[in-house]
Amino acid sequence: MAEHAITPRVARRLEAVQRLLIDGQWQLAGDGRSEDIFNPSSGEIITTAATATEEDANRAVAAARASFNDHRWTGLTPAQRAKVLWRVADLIGAHAEEMAELEMLDAGKFYLGALNGEVPFAAECFRYYAGWCTKIEGTTKQLSTVPGQAFHIYTQREPIGVAALIIPWNGPLVQAAWKIAPALAAGCSVVIKPASQTPLSITRLGELMIEAGVPDGVINIISGGGSTIGRLLAEHPDVGKVSFTGSTEVGKQIIDAAKGNLKKVTLELGGKSPVIVFDDADLEGAIAGAAEAIFSSAGQVCVAGSRLYVQDSVYDEVISGVAEIAKNMKVGPATNSAMDMGPLISRQHLQDVYRMVEAGLAEGAKLAAGGKLITDGGGYFIEPTVLADTTHRMSVVSDEIFGPVLVAMPFSRQEQVVALANDSEFGLAASIWTRDISKAHLTADAVRAGLVWINCHGIPDMAVPFGGYRQSGWGRENGYESLLQYTELKSVIARL
Ligand code: NAD
Repeated sequence: MAEHAITPRVARRLEAVQRLLIDGQWQLAGDGRSEDIFNPSSGEIITTAATATEEDANRAVAAARASFNDHRWTGLTPAQRAKVLWRVADLIGAHAEEMAELEMLDAGKFYLGALNGEVPFAAECFRYYAGWCTKIEGTTKQLSTVPGQAFHIYTQREPIGVAALIIPWNGPLVQAAWKIAPALAAGCSVVIKPASQTPLSITRLGELMIEAGVPDGVINIISGGGSTIGRLLAEHPDVGKVSFTGSTEVGKQIIDAAKGNLKKVTLELGGKSPVIVFDDADLEGAIAGAAEAIFSSAGQVCVAGSRLYVQDSVYDEVISGVAEIAKNMKVGPATNSAMDMGPLISRQHLQDVYRMVEAGLAEGAKLAAGGKLITDGGGYFIEPTVLADTTHRMSVVSDEIFGPVLVAMPFSRQEQVVALANDSEFGLAASIWTRDISKAHLTADAVRAGLVWINCHGIPDMAVPFGGYRQSGWGRENGYESLLQYTELKSVIARL
């Protein structure tokens, strides 16, 4: 299929400055400042977005706090709140083409991939948490400390209050939905800060949320710098919860910033996820799966399968199979659905990824595929890259690259590969490829990661908790577990 042409509706939208949403009002930044937004497929400026000032951020927090205090959201019945969230999902579905186009232009997602993947998945997230609104429950308890007297004891879940949601540029719409939907289902009011590169789909989502009936002040959107506006939100005394997705380095800064009022913190951070291929695996499936695990979204996925461990006897076959796929991939603009892999998010990130590849080669990795920048056209492209015969002493093996760069190593025994897989500061995800069901589950048990796939990689689901061990984070997203992280638990002991 050919180039996806931008529809007049989206083109018109991009002519205007993208605004901030504070207390139900779309507005420019207090000082009128805005930032250029680039299309990573072409390097061209596509629009500009208002950059919040500190005063704007403070007003957004105040609006969220006022909306929480006057119960304009929590005062609705759970079923009424569920209907609003369901309506958000329906509106995302009704505007799916527009949302997919914005995700394509801003985040470099393929149009069809976004239309059939990210956009319906974001809608599904709102439906999933709409379902939880009416099912937030406490428990009853029995007292043992005071014999001979009657008590009624129960627990209840209450929303924390104002939740600050800070998200990265990879998959902005889904990342936003994963935080906004459970926060609102729990009864919180939110201030969300998109990454400064990718505010477009979240701005449109904000419009749809207002249209769906989310009251003014319950959802606020402020685009702006991380070290200024992001930090202010993480420090703010009126914010009770910060949910952050991004790099491990910034995650640690969030912890420091949140100390002042000991706000609750959830962190979804980096990863260096192992893909383990045993010699009894369906090799055709494992080779295709390993390639997909690293090259999907050009490797800019937190759960990317970026370390490949292959059992000795099939190592050469698997590496050459993955390398062959890499060499045959068509790399080009996300607007062209004939391409297999799109751009990196920015020129800076492209340079960082390329520097990591050079460092790996300098440290002795063997180039099995790729390794070059693609410089024709103005977009930010690099070839899908496979570095073979790497070791755990190399920075390409220890550090997250967040690009389409796979490092590969052989192993001989199950205990050895488990030790290698666990020899990482991260522990976000892993996949295990084998036909032996016992080996699969025993290995899954031994690998220290928050999400383990067997004979597949990267499949998400709203019902399945998602998050990391070790320096991959604190807490979980998705499932009931995520919703609970936007609540406080109260126990009530009543003498009858
Ligand atoms: P980043 O940490 O640089 O930025 C993430 C967000 O934090 C942005 O909105 C940014 O503006 C903001 N920010 C930056 N400095 C801040 C500060 N001092 N205080 C408060 N906020 C600040 O990450 P990125 O480069 O945008 O995204 C890539 C990283 O995100 C990778 O490490 C990737 O693994 C991680 N990620 C993790 C998950 C997950 O679920 N575990 C999902 C996607 C991405």
